[in-house]
Amino acid sequence: MQRLCLLHFLKLHRIWTLRQGRALSSAVPAVYDVVISGGGMVGSAMACALGSDPNLRHKKILLLEAGHRKAFDCLPEIFSNRVSSITPGSAALLASFGAWDLILAMRFKPFKRMQVWDACSDALITFDKDAMEDMGYIVENDVIISALTQQLDSLSKRVEVLYRSRVLDYKWPPPYNNGEASPWVEIELSDGQKLHTRLLIGADGHNSMVRSSAGMQTVQWGYNHVAIVATLHLSEVRPLCLLETFFSQPLAFM
Ligand SMILES: Cc1cc2nc3c(=O)[nH]c(=O)nc-3n(C[C@H](O)[C@H](O)[C@H](O)COP(=O)(O)OP(=O)(O)OC[C@H]3O[C@@H](n4cnc5c(N)ncnc54)[C@H](O)[C@@H]3O)c2cc1C
Repeated sequence: MQRLCLLHFLKLHRIWTLRQGRALSSAVPAVYDVVISGGGMVGSAMACALGSDPNLRHKKILLLEAGHRKAFDCLPEIFSNRVSSITPGSAALLASFGAWDLILAMRFKPFKRMQVWDACSDALITFDKDAMEDMGYIVENDVIISALTQQLDSLSKRVEVLYRSRVLDYKWPPPYNNGEASPWVEIELSDGQKLHTRLLIGADGHNSMVRSSAGMQTVQWGYNHVAIVATLHLSEVRPLCLLETFFSQPLAFM
């Protein structure tokens, strides 16, 4: 009787975890072909690119993100001051898996010219594109993330996404296979789940735990600078030009 109850519980638990779209926390960790750790702009774009690649259609792909799902139901009226300058090449990448159209449907600003000048001299450099062509696009980071999240929703059969799933630890396979240890990277999540992956992609930001736990060395130094990022309301509409100037401190209008 006790055994039947336990089996029933395990069955219910399995159905519940599948409905939650979460990997099963069983004694045997689930094995993925690819795990992307970090669902910011880079990790989400990587997940969309892999999920849209027909050559990878049989691969088990997982995206892990510590934060919650970020997609707009309704675009906020106020512009966010975290923006990215997207080159035509990056726009083409986003277009290749359908996210660029979603961005265009939300909010973006093209620019056709860039001017950079220096305070210590008369030096000035101007970048001009053909009058018809855009040099790049200024897009709010939240808009990019929202587009990528919507695109990931449409790829849900190809890419599993676990939000609010923080990685606590990575265990690397031994350099040679002794037949006992797992040959894959083991990932431990904050809820105790363990996963295995054949390929781990670190997209977990500037303090990447993937990078540090893999022992990759970096060189860093402080610039002793403080930056202010603000959204300006202009009294007149300026031409579609991106301005950067280097007075005593760099200043950029995007
Ligand atoms: C003011 C400013 C302006 C910038 N302008 C530009 C620009 O014009 N163009 C440009 O290309 N770049 C620009 N950058 C840089 C750009 O914003 C960053 O390079 C970019 O956001 C990095 O994205 P990412 O996805 O790699 O990292 P992040 O955005 O940091 O995302 C990392 C993600 O990983 C998740 N994560 C972290 N640790 C874990 C963990 N243990 N488990 C699970 N998830 C985890 C985090 O929750 C986060 O969502 C700018 C940066 C600043 C500060």
